[in-house]
Amino acid sequence: MNNNDIPSSNNRRKFIRGFSLALGTTAFGLPMLSLNACQSGNSGNQEQPEEANQGGAEKKKMGIALVGLGGYSTNQLAPALQETENCYLAGIVTGTPSKAEEWKAKYNIPDKNVYNYENFDQIKDNPDIDIIYVVLPNGMHAEYTIRAANAGKHVICEKPMATSVEDCQRMIDACNKNNVGLSIGYRLHWEPHNLRVMELGQQQVFGPVKKIETANSFVIGNPDVWRLDKQLAGGGPLMDMGIYCVQGAVYTMGEPPVAITAKFGEVTRPEVFDEVEQTIIWQMHFANGAVAECRSSYNESAGRLRGEAEKGWWELQPAYGYSGIDGKTSEGDMDYPQVNQQALQMDGQAQSFMQNEETRVPGEMGMRDVKILMAIYEAARTGNKVPLSW
Ligand code: NAD
Repeated sequence: MNNNDIPSSNNRRKFIRGFSLALGTTAFGLPMLSLNACQSGNSGNQEQPEEANQGGAEKKKMGIALVGLGGYSTNQLAPALQETENCYLAGIVTGTPSKAEEWKAKYNIPDKNVYNYENFDQIKDNPDIDIIYVVLPNGMHAEYTIRAANAGKHVICEKPMATSVEDCQRMIDACNKNNVGLSIGYRLHWEPHNLRVMELGQQQVFGPVKKIETANSFVIGNPDVWRLDKQLAGGGPLMDMGIYCVQGAVYTMGEPPVAITAKFGEVTRPEVFDEVEQTIIWQMHFANGAVAECRSSYNESAGRLRGEAEKGWWELQPAYGYSGIDGKTSEGDMDYPQVNQQALQMDGQAQSFMQNEETRVPGEMGMRDVKILMAIYEAARTGNKVPLSW
């Protein structure tokens, strides 16, 4: 189980669903921000939205179809879609008929909005579906994103965007060709502690950043999972958890690294880690000389992001989970609320699609990160310092 799935026991903080953010975007697609929190209640069970199915320009809520009804769709995205204002759970794509029945009943999904992997492309004729959210194993993201784009639907694709830079480019090209939006499931771009880190780093609140330290790991239990299958996962913990460290370091700096050094960690469970790495340790070297020390493992527990600048420091721990995120700076505790990250993320993405604007986490950002992930593997494999040009 992904450690991000572990619910927070930290109930002392307010849970809010409304959290508006005024954002501009840097040249790298990274937000510059100001925070403005507002409180509101749980909107309760899903109902068909008043204007959801009327179509046309007056449509207020966009219909989302989730593709792949595994852990993340079941435990996070579908519940979050009961809280959203700009989008709602309109349809599902699943290869398991029993799941289709369960979801139809639970979420009041009509038969005509239920698809399987064979008839998926017919979704193009369904005006209820505006956005297809790809929540499949990493190695399937490219195929389903491209098919969704060719069906004329906007696409949200889970992280990592794909298992190669070439696939990322094909996904971006398909969305551009079909004139649809493409956005990545980077929920932390709507999470206030992480947004504050972006602000502290990018706006050099404590002066230029000199050092970053970050780790994201969990202990994998069941060895019979796609996450340990090289073809389906694209790699090990780096692809799944380490990508948050890559994101954290880059959104602290506001720019991508110019070089990578890396090595694989010790393999203590060779029977489990015969296709993907157990642990990986890497450094991201930035243009100003700052270095991010990073670590990700399927055999440890961690979730931390620390930044050190000339005149101060900050640290999030836990940094990357769904809730319970906590942080402090050299000046004291961060006092931000816990939010429903997935609800805010999907609302933000739907709003951007509606307004025909680029989302805060576009396909280009996903491709940038996959390029960094591939450089990390190359550095670990070869022992060389791998330069990156942008
Ligand atoms: P999961 O194993 O729980 O679910 C995967 C789903 O894909 C299942 O419904 C499975 O039936 C389906 N599937 C279809 N074809 C398959 C095949 N050939 N092999 C295996 N499964 C197949 O995985 P998950 O945890 O829901 O992860 C799905 C995606 O979501 C991954 O890309 C993962 O990185 C991402 N994810 C993101 C977050 C986040 O916080 N943003 C959290 C968890 C997962």
